[in-house]
Amino acid sequence: ALVVGRRVRSRKKWKRVVGVLKELEESCETTVGRLRQVVDAMAVEMHAGLASEGGSKLKMLLTFVDNLPSGSEKGIFYALDLGGTNFRVLRVELGGQRSELDPDVEHQPIPEQLMTGRSEDLFDFIASSLHRFVENGNDSVQSSIMKELGFTFSFPVKQTSVSSGVLIKWTKAFAIKDMVGKEVAGALQQALDRKGLNMRVAVLVNDTVGTLALGHYHDADTVAAVIIGTGTNACYWERTDAIIKCQGLLTTSGGMVVNMEWGNFWSSHLPRTSYDIDLDAESPNPNDQGFEKMISGMYLGDIVRRVILRMSEELDVFGPVSSRLYVPFALRTPAMAAMHEDDSPELTEVAKILQDVLDISDVPLKVRKLVVKICDVVTRRAARLAAAGIVGILKKIGRDGSGGITGGRSRSDIKMRRTAVAVEGSLYTQYTMFREYLHEALHEILGEDIARHVVINVTEDGSGTGAALLAASHSSSGSVDNI
Ligand code: BGC
Ligand code: MG
Repeated sequence: ALVVGRRVRSRKKWKRVVGVLKELEESCETTVGRLRQVVDAMAVEMHAGLASEGGSKLKMLLTFVDNLPSGSEKGIFYALDLGGTNFRVLRVELGGQRSELDPDVEHQPIPEQLMTGRSEDLFDFIASSLHRFVENGNDSVQSSIMKELGFTFSFPVKQTSVSSGVLIKWTKAFAIKDMVGKEVAGALQQALDRKGLNMRVAVLVNDTVGTLALGHYHDADTVAAVIIGTGTNACYWERTDAIIKCQGLLTTSGGMVVNMEWGNFWSSHLPRTSYDIDLDAESPNPNDQGFEKMISGMYLGDIVRRVILRMSEELDVFGPVSSRLYVPFALRTPAMAAMHEDDSPELTEVAKILQDVLDISDVPLKVRKLVVKICDVVTRRAARLAAAGIVGILKKIGRDGSGGITGGRSRSDIKMRRTAVAVEGSLYTQYTMFREYLHEALHEILGEDIARHVVINVTEDGSGTGAALLAASHSSSGSVDNI
């Protein structure tokens, strides 16, 4: 009787577990209908953000990038790429013909204490890395010929020109108080000067803008760029007359790249859970970056940790509650992805990560399967929302097929130009399930006839390489020859 009693109890318990899982699934639901509402909300907010300063949670920031690289750029250019988990230094040699670029790239993790310390220390660290990089290369550090530098700074910046701007706020894991409201390129330039580097910050760009520049260099149909990495964001090419908040804005091209800062997008149509609410409340930036907190690599693992914690605390599915489960960000997204993509029959990788990362042992297969399912729900929602964001941009610029019906009779009448979107970031490039869910959702929302014309191009180190390209096209010596 004892055994039977226990079995009944555990069956009851499992029912409650399934209940919590179901609740999670329901609150993460992204039906096509709901995604279309997100698409519409995105397009509406884009209009609002362009109409007036502060008109939307979408800042729709001017970039002053009014020309994308032509391919005729020549010379040696450097770039610094700061903003995610890694910091990159790049050197690119441009030959003047649109060619395969083969930049020298050095990756370096940013010491955590620099992300929250003093701005001078961060910029000195960056300048030192660049100094070392130049020294190890073929160029001389104190060369009499000034080198032009592209600076990719992946945070919201209110630009005052293509090479200057002030930091609006920090996002992701950065929080250097004395930097907010300060001139970003100026702070770097001072650090370069302190180091005695003969370099000039020629452009200050968001990572999305660098990615768009490189994407466009390789595929002239590229109209937008999306980053889905530690953080998430998008930029796109907009007509200046649509940027109503800047009346009289004139560019020779008639357009300008707009940095949407879509990480801060918000809409009541977003499927939000209690885990999202808690994550936001306990974050250093509550009420900020709501879209980002549902989509990007900094947060997905932590959403999963919160679900596991609740199930462990309330339903006792993971044995004695591990203290690791209380540590914010203890479960990083790469570990979560590895569990999600564990295709071994016994889910040995899941067991290993639960043990190594969260200090949870002896998890039965049934519960390991549950963990995989949780990862799946969280990632699927993220990827589908990112897809809706992309379609929102396409809708805003009339490339979603909805405005292009020639006779208005049938889908096959739709005239649709080939449209390319450059995408970068570890979630998209390293996480197969995420990428597949994103593509699937794009097709669902757009329909096959339209989706056929939309191309997603992956760029590698595009955010940095693109900044070097932009440094070239905006360099003081022009694209003539700076060697
Ligand atoms: C920042 C954006 C950036 C994105 C991707 C966000 O947190 O606000 O400026 O483009 O992360 O790096
Ligand atoms: Mg980056």
